[in-house]
Amino acid sequence: MSRTKIIATLGPASIDRVDELVRAGVSAFRLNLSHGTHEWHTHAIQKIRALSHEVGIMADLPGPKLRLTHVREGTRLERGAKVVLTHGEGVGDEHVLYVDYPRLARDVQAGERVLIGDGDVELVVDSVSGSDVLCTVVAGGDVASCRGVSLPSTRLGVSVPTERDREHIAFAVDAGVDLIAASFIRDEHDVRAVQREVQAHGGDVPVIAKIEKHEALEHLDAILDVAYGLMVARGDLGIEVPIERVPLIQRRLLMMCRRVAKPSIVATQMLESMLTSPTPTRAEVSDIANAILEGADALMLSGETAVGRYPVEAVRIMERVASETERSGELEGPVELEGRGMGVQQAISHAACILAHEVGARAILTPTASGSTARHVASHRPSQSVLSISESHATLRRLSITWGVQPVHTSEFGSLEHVLKGLMRRMRERGDVASGDLVVITAGVPIGIAGGTNMIRVERVP
Ligand code: PGA
Ligand code: MN
Repeated sequence: MSRTKIIATLGPASIDRVDELVRAGVSAFRLNLSHGTHEWHTHAIQKIRALSHEVGIMADLPGPKLRLTHVREGTRLERGAKVVLTHGEGVGDEHVLYVDYPRLARDVQAGERVLIGDGDVELVVDSVSGSDVLCTVVAGGDVASCRGVSLPSTRLGVSVPTERDREHIAFAVDAGVDLIAASFIRDEHDVRAVQREVQAHGGDVPVIAKIEKHEALEHLDAILDVAYGLMVARGDLGIEVPIERVPLIQRRLLMMCRRVAKPSIVATQMLESMLTSPTPTRAEVSDIANAILEGADALMLSGETAVGRYPVEAVRIMERVASETERSGELEGPVELEGRGMGVQQAISHAACILAHEVGARAILTPTASGSTARHVASHRPSQSVLSISESHATLRRLSITWGVQPVHTSEFGSLEHVLKGLMRRMRERGDVASGDLVVITAGVPIGIAGGTNMIRVERVP
């Protein structure tokens, strides 16, 4: 399996193929809460858990995304035509479209742009009259029910989490998901608000900030400071900012995450052509390889696995491209650390990787309570296996989106000696190491208590 993690969005195309997807290389599933009922998602969670205790589940909140409600089939907007956007009951057509946001007419102003779907259909606001927004079509095209509506130049009076998000958070915490992805966050306050809501439901589920809004780009450091990790949500990002800026934003976000050993996810259109084709384009294959070379921890499939014709094939292709890219050796070597005032944890994990390289160790073992040691070690992209050992399945599943970390569950952390003895035996049984191999162990001692990596040892496998 590739060391780059693969996240697959579950949907009708994959709900009955969860086991195949895991065998093909998926380490975590995304439940897209913008679609499907809680009943459907409960069923999905049961399926995944029945299959494995190691596979991660990430619940993705819709966030304040505006959408069209019902639109008559076959509706097409022609360039130069007039169309009204409004709120209310009804079926939209080429004259009037209904948006699921009651304050639309209050928030927008004449001259602002409105993008529908992937941004292919563009309107400009002529005027506002009561609850109607009168627009002219600048770029025409087909529109359909539930298409997203983006207003890249408008300040919307919405905040995160939305009312709907709150219900989803309650559901996700109760259902025991491993990660929550927060859509359309603008700054660290939005991330904190989601975290507070998670806590209000008695949960400690880590929150991934999806970077897909123009405002978020001005608060990246603060967002990364409070979030568990970031997702480069290229779909909406490419509508919110000029599309040509997306590649460099991706590169920057991946670098930022790796420096602080927080997981990064690259999402959207990674294998878009495989919605309908059994083989990818050259450009898609390059995109996957480049995301890995830029330091991505995980790559995400969206429609490809949710509704595509070739969900398992898409995962297989992604796994193959990732494995080949990793074999190149181009990823190895410690991340640039200079000028950041290295903390003890960073310095120790850095040293563990150098040590493993110097002595020709076979694996780096990280007994961990929070997963933090494993993330720091993996951020250096060592060529050795990184085995994360924990008593907590939840901790191990959080690592399902962290590059290169293999989960190993242990029933009990005792003294270090005790843990090591048991571990070596299991590693040998699993075939991760052989008798006589050297392994590097790094942990916070006493082990099993979160925080504070402070120890490195080299051991020979008996
Ligand atoms: P979405 O997020 O699939 O939930 O929209 C990812 C993106 O916008 O790229
Ligand atoms: Mn999005």
